[in-house]
Amino acid sequence: MSAWTNRSHCVGTVPGGDRVVAHSVWRAAWQRAGVTVLSVVADGRAMVDHLITDARIVGPSRVQRGDIAIDGAEIVAVGADLSGEPSSVIDADGRVALPGMVDVHCHMHDPALFPEDIDFATQTASAVAGGVTTVVELPTQTPVTTVSAFREKREACERLAHVDFGLVVGNVRDADLDADGLVGAGTAGFKTFTADPYCADDRTIVDLMDRVGDAGSTVRVHCETQGLMDHARAGIEGDAPELYPDSRPLEAELAAIDQMGWFAEYADCPLHVVHISSGQGAREGARFKARATTPITLETCPQYLAFSTADVPEKGPFLKVNPSLKSPTERGRLWDAVQDGTIDLIASDHFPIHRENRERGWEDIWEPYAGLPTVESNLEFLVSEGVHTGRLSWPRLCELVCARPAREMGVYPQKGAIRAGTDADIVLLREEEWTVSAEQLAYNGGWTPYEGCEWSAVADTVIANGEIAARDHEVLSTPGDGAFLARDTRS
Ligand SMILES: [Zn+2]
Repeated sequence: MSAWTNRSHCVGTVPGGDRVVAHSVWRAAWQRAGVTVLSVVADGRAMVDHLITDARIVGPSRVQRGDIAIDGAEIVAVGADLSGEPSSVIDADGRVALPGMVDVHCHMHDPALFPEDIDFATQTASAVAGGVTTVVELPTQTPVTTVSAFREKREACERLAHVDFGLVVGNVRDADLDADGLVGAGTAGFKTFTADPYCADDRTIVDLMDRVGDAGSTVRVHCETQGLMDHARAGIEGDAPELYPDSRPLEAELAAIDQMGWFAEYADCPLHVVHISSGQGAREGARFKARATTPITLETCPQYLAFSTADVPEKGPFLKVNPSLKSPTERGRLWDAVQDGTIDLIASDHFPIHRENRERGWEDIWEPYAGLPTVESNLEFLVSEGVHTGRLSWPRLCELVCARPAREMGVYPQKGAIRAGTDADIVLLREEEWTVSAEQLAYNGGWTPYEGCEWSAVADTVIANGEIAARDHEVLSTPGDGAFLARDTRS
C-alpha cells in the first residue's frame, strides 16, 4: 500500500531576515507575529502540495523512474530525485504512473432516458474510480443540436461532474444547425448515425459534413448500414441472446465505414469513426487514412477486444451492445489493428443501465437497450490484457487512451501527458492479481460484463486536478469538482 506521511510545513522569514520552518498550523500565529510566510525555502526547493516519489512514469516513448511534484491543480516538476517541501508524499513504490485516461465516448447524462440515480455525477464517479479523469459526453435519446441546448447541458453537467468533461453535439438528424455557434460554444464534435434509432439519411450526413468541415470541427459517425441490418433481422426467429449478433452483420459495419469515408472526402470534413467492432472494419477505415486527403480517426472499444460471439452463450444480455460483438477471428484482427497503429484511440462507449433491466434480455434479447457500463474497467482491462500479455507497450497504451484522445478533444497536452505545466491528472497502477466483481466497483448499476475476469492491474490512486479523487475504486471526489473543457479547434 502507499505510504503516506504528512509533512505540512510553512517556511517564512522573521523581521531581520532569518528563516524559520514550522508546522503549517502555526501559519496564522506567525503572520500575527509579523513573520512573512514564503512559498519557497532558502535553497530553492519548491513548496508543493503533493510529491509522488519512485514512480515508473509513462511518457510518449519510454517509461522512466522518477518523481512528480504537484502544486495546486498543476504538475510543476517531473524528474529524478526531486526535492521539495510537500504537504504530502505519495510513495509510489515503483508503481506505474500514467496520465489520467481521457475517454472520448461516454453516455452518462440523459434525464429523459436514464433513471434518477444514473446521471453525470454517479457515472463520472465511476469513471474516476477507474482512472478516467476526462470524459466526453455524447447525447443518447435527448438531442443537443442548438447552442441553447448545449449551454443548458453544460451547466447541468458542471454541477454534477467529478472530472473534467467535453460535450458532443448530436444526435444530428437535421443538418440545419448553427455549426459555427456550436463550435464557438466549445463542442468536442458532432455525432450522427447511419443506423436506427437515430438514423440520418445520406443527404443530411453530407450536408452536416459540409457545414462542420467549414466550421473546423469533426463529424463522428456510428457506422452500420440500417437496410442491411433490417434484412438480417427479418430472417431471424426467436428471442435468445445468441441471435443478437446475427442481426448486426459485419458487412453492415464495413459498408457504412466505406460510405462515410467517401462522404468525408467529398465534403472535406474530418471524420471520426466511433466504436469499430471488427478488424476488417479497422482495415476499411485505414484505406481512407492512407489517402490522406481529410483527417480520419479510428476508434474502438475494449469490449470488442475482450469479447466475441463465442462469449455470448455464457454472458447473454450482459454482452448486448451496438455494434454487436463479432467472431473470434475479427476480435484477433482488431487486436492486430490496435497493435500496428491502425486504430488511433480506444474509448469506452460507456452506457449505464441497471442489472434488473438488462437481465430481462435472457427472456427476450430484443427488449433491453443495448450498451455496456465499462468506463471504470477499461484501463485495468487494457493493462491486464494488453500490456501484461505483451500486446501493447506502456507508451502505446498511453497514446491510445491518454494522448491521442486528448488531441482529438483539442486539450493536449493540458490533458493526456505527465509533464511540467500540465494538469495534475495521474493514475498510479498497482500490478496485482484480482478477480473482477461488480461489488468492488463504484458503478451503481450492479453489474459489469467483465464479472469473473482475472486481471493483473488495479487503479490504486487516481489524482484529478491535483486532488486525490479515488483510491482502490473508492471515490473521494465530489460532484462539481470537474469543469467543462472547450475544444480548441486550432490543435
Ligand atoms: Zn456511443
